[in-house]
Amino acid sequence: MEVAVNQDLCISCGLCVSSCPDIFVWNQDDKAETSGQKIDPDLEDCVQEAADGCPTDAIETQ
Ligand code: SF4
Repeated sequence: MEVAVNQDLCISCGLCVSSCPDIFVWNQDDKAETSGQKIDPDLEDCVQEAADGCPTDAIETQ
């Protein structure tokens, strides 16, 4: 699984950072980005939940 945050769409609501803090972190622009670590299979549900819950569909998974 790969994940990326579209910086143009992120509105800094904080949902992904609070629900899946191992993967999503704040960057210098106060937007969410991925921590860069490989996504452990244990975390895939959490990443998918964050992607599904993101109000602007800024989280892209594949
Ligand atoms: S859930 Fe979406 S809009 Fe909210 S901080 Fe994460 S990427 Fe940004």
